Amino acid sequence: MVKLLRFLRPYAAHVVGSLILIFAQSIASLSLPALMSDIVDKGIARNDIALILRTGGWMLLLALCAVIASVASGYLASRASMGFGKILRSRVFSRVSDFSLHEMDSFGAASLITRTTNDITQVQQVVFMMLRMMAMAPMMAVGGIIMAVTTEPGLAWILLVSLPIIAAGIVLMAKKGLPLFRAIQKKLDVLNRVLRENLSGIRVIRAFDRDDFERRRFDRANTDLTATALKVNRLMASLTPLVNLVMSLTTVMIVWFGGFAVDRGEVQIGSLMAFIQYATQIMFSVLMVSVMFILVPRAAASADRINEVLDTEPEIRDPEAPREAGDLGGRVEFRDVTFRYHGAEEPALRGVSFTAESGTTTAIIGGTGSGKSTVINLIERFYDVDTGVVLVDGIDVRDLSQRDLRSRLGLSTQKAVIFSGTIRDNLRFGAPNSDEADLEKAAEIAQAASFIREKEGGFEEPVAQGGTNISGGQKQRLAIARALARKPKIYLFDDTFSALDFKTDAKLRAALRRETENATVLIVAQRVGTIRNADKIIVLDEGRVAGSGTHAELLRDCPIYREIVASQLSEEESA
Ligand code: ADP
Ligand code: MG
Repeated sequence: MVKLLRFLRPYAAHVVGSLILIFAQSIASLSLPALMSDIVDKGIARNDIALILRTGGWMLLLALCAVIASVASGYLASRASMGFGKILRSRVFSRVSDFSLHEMDSFGAASLITRTTNDITQVQQVVFMMLRMMAMAPMMAVGGIIMAVTTEPGLAWILLVSLPIIAAGIVLMAKKGLPLFRAIQKKLDVLNRVLRENLSGIRVIRAFDRDDFERRRFDRANTDLTATALKVNRLMASLTPLVNLVMSLTTVMIVWFGGFAVDRGEVQIGSLMAFIQYATQIMFSVLMVSVMFILVPRAAASADRINEVLDTEPEIRDPEAPREAGDLGGRVEFRDVTFRYHGAEEPALRGVSFTAESGTTTAIIGGTGSGKSTVINLIERFYDVDTGVVLVDGIDVRDLSQRDLRSRLGLSTQKAVIFSGTIRDNLRFGAPNSDEADLEKAAEIAQAASFIREKEGGFEEPVAQGGTNISGGQKQRLAIARALARKPKIYLFDDTFSALDFKTDAKLRAALRRETENATVLIVAQRVGTIRNADKIIVLDEGRVAGSGTHAELLRDCPIYREIVASQLSEEESA
């Protein structure tokens, strides 16, 4: 929590200003009871109208000042805390943007969203409260005690009885509440995850008639969260009555003992009234402190979760002295690469070696889970290898800057990701400087031009969020065009063609071949038809290279390839 307060630094002036105003407000509030006791004991007792009016005037003025100071300090405090939240959010966001997929995997998207939104809001609220109450409460408490003791030293012992009782109650409750607050944030993560899965999987859920199941799953997470929140609130709700009870009993004691003292002529009525007000002010500030005791641990739980994100060093970072890659036209080489995902038991790739030469098409085929996408992930350096090296244009990808590396690559994935914006925005996504002709050519090769022309707005046609107003195959072709518009040296197609029909697949590959004469093309595919003409085919099986060569060579030498071919031929024949 304290660590996060460094982000308040740009608002130092606001904070100081607000503290000064709070100080002024406290002074004004503390002088009011003293003035009132003057009115009662001197003005009314001696029937001194002039004194009553003068002191009354001062009281009005001070009260007005206190109100103005309170409003102004509130304004400054909220400016500071909102600014703090903004800075914190952008820090967390940019840290998350630097994460490698390993860190993403370990936090999970739902939790990262909760941390960036709800957790930061919690901390931001407490910073606001802290600026207001943390400053106010000690000032009022200390000032109140001083004023009370100087007004009526004889009654001060009553405070010695009631304050420790309140303090003990607060500590007890904070102890009980803290674990519950941590639990709440975790449960919020779960709720978020269920909701996210439901929103993104709505079609599958409907199709499989799992609405009821999902509703129950959501209900369970929701009820769980509510139960914990209720527990916490019950606990916290008992705090105010406790403080109120102690406060009232204190007032009773003051009136009781003070009454006798007034009878004996030792105490004046005005100062007794002032003493009661000071006692109330003191206990009220203790109440404020107690609220802080509740809110700070709660925010501390959130602050820990934020710090976890901020303190996670991205595994993948640019080298200090990035090297310039040679111009080998986009040659990609794997040398004895072994890689295991964090948390996975088996390596996804073991001892994989191959070269994809510039000007050729290299295909990777293999069953699901054989490690095909992992190969692509390693070329993109979404993850780092455990042993071995991945070379692009002769240089270890870890020695290149990520920007340099990725500027050589054009990736399109199995699940096409399209962003909201127009079709043109999406095509220019990876190539902001491309001109109209480039875009049209890319669309032409990707077999997207014809359907784009059919759209009412053409290239200006807006794409809805997630690309819902274009079909799956159209989306796929846009994603391919986006990779082409980048004119990379290395084209990476991760199972991109499986979503296309045979005819489009063939046309696209023919057009692509003409375009990529000087580039390296890596195609991951399921269908033998997509890759049989590739210059080199690499067969992956459970993370190992089971064979490599041309279609004919593999048919002759590689039993696993023969199996794949046989299974697909029989499928086609029977179809
Ligand atoms: P393919 O693309 O050939 O279907 P992948 O390369 O995606 O296969 O996966 C290879 C293996 O690594 C699989 O066993 C898969 O379960 C595992 N794997 C893939 N991604 C992750 C991940 N993010 N975390 C843990 N294991 C993963
Ligand atoms: Mg895959």
